[in-house]
Amino acid sequence: MKASYDVVIVGGAVIGSAVAYFLASNPDFNGSVLVVERDPTYRYASTSLSSSSIRVQFSNPINVKISQFGSAFIRDFARTMQVAGEAAPDLNFHQGGYLFLANTAEQEQTLRENHEVQRACGADVVLWGQEDLHRAFPHLNVDDIRLASYGQSGEGWFSNTGLMNGFKAKARELGVDYITDEVVAISRAGDRVTGVTLKSGASVQAGAVVNASGPRAALTARMAGLDVPVEPRKRTLFVFDCAKTPEGSATVNGGRLPLMIDPSGVFCRPEGRFFLSGAPPLEDPAVDWDDFEPRWTEFEDQIWPTLAERSPAFEAIKVVNQWAGHYDFNSLDHNLIVGRHPQVTNFVFANGYSGHGLQQGPAAGRGVAELLIYGAYRTLDLTEVGYERILEGRPFLEKAVI
Ligand SMILES: Cc1cc2nc3c(=O)[nH]c(=O)nc-3n(C[C@H](O)[C@H](O)[C@H](O)COP(=O)(O)OP(=O)(O)OC[C@H]3O[C@@H](n4cnc5c(N)ncnc54)[C@H](O)[C@@H]3O)c2cc1C
Repeated sequence: MKASYDVVIVGGAVIGSAVAYFLASNPDFNGSVLVVERDPTYRYASTSLSSSSIRVQFSNPINVKISQFGSAFIRDFARTMQVAGEAAPDLNFHQGGYLFLANTAEQEQTLRENHEVQRACGADVVLWGQEDLHRAFPHLNVDDIRLASYGQSGEGWFSNTGLMNGFKAKARELGVDYITDEVVAISRAGDRVTGVTLKSGASVQAGAVVNASGPRAALTARMAGLDVPVEPRKRTLFVFDCAKTPEGSATVNGGRLPLMIDPSGVFCRPEGRFFLSGAPPLEDPAVDWDDFEPRWTEFEDQIWPTLAERSPAFEAIKVVNQWAGHYDFNSLDHNLIVGRHPQVTNFVFANGYSGHGLQQGPAAGRGVAELLIYGAYRTLDLTEVGYERILEGRPFLEKAVI
């Protein structure tokens, strides 16, 4: 580690490593980058505990375009991110699609409006009535469904740690330094951050600091005397086996079940020979940064009854694993906060993804790198998701939040 870096990134999971990669791979950037990561096992990082899915079915065109870039990037990952002497990092992208189900007039209207936005962005999404739905997924009970929206390509699930480790390996190959330590203080001189102090006692000077600390984003911002409305919100995921399918495993209808979002918000998708599922918590307070106790009752109370109603195959299911992770939850508007602080302009936020940070990692990483290198966006303009809206209390509008 050197005494001074052009850019110091706090947090080295998917977002920190994406920023590091996009900086180091840009021919217009000749600077030095340090990534500080307090836990290189990533055991409790949101990235490791994620359900690792990507969709283009959003209501705001910026979110659609962010995920379209993410999807193309993930598809191409093995080629772009190949590190000399190592196997190509295949992310096992399974483009199973998202299937949103609507059973009220209001939900139907929202799906129709969102669909207009998605189609205008060129997304491969179709609207289906009951008959189409029944034809595509005959095992589903859709008697109550008014409309469905299905992503035919560009949506699905992939390896979360693969994405993070791929960014990290490539960033290191391109000269980025990673250290295991914790940023405990950030120094400022007027309107500039000047460096970080580490738990080990070392100090490092910094030309710019990037906050990529996930659910701990507010703690990191506070070290620089700044506020960001990001807090840890607990989400519990359950993996289950499904005994009634022909093979005694999770291949309902030949494995063609997409990531299905029930009107209640309960979701489920194939996960290898099993299924991964979750439910929106009935109560959703901010939790302690170290509280990872699963909310055990969500499966019995919400997930299982909903799924059993939706498909007879899901009547006999058995949980084989569960865990809780933290959403990096933006309490203003549930969307990413990416950009510089308007006064402290060499402090850059890359926070608040609220359940979308994995799929948004490529676009956010590229955007932050452009801000640092050129002082402005060169590809996708992320100004609308910048920090200014936080200061003004002006929410970014996105209706398709899960
Ligand atoms: C249950 C669950 C399901 C999800 N499902 C999806 C999904 O399907 N699709 C999707 O796109 N997203 C999903 N997400 C969200 C996504 O996983 C996160 O938004 C994303 O991983 C955030 O990445 P990050 O790098 O910002 O944060 P993290 O992965 O939490 O990484 C932050 C890192 O910063 C480090 N750090 C923190 N403070 C310091 C410090 N002071 N010094 C040094 N290091 C520090 C931490 O140790 C950590 O490694 C889900 C999240 C959860 C919890």
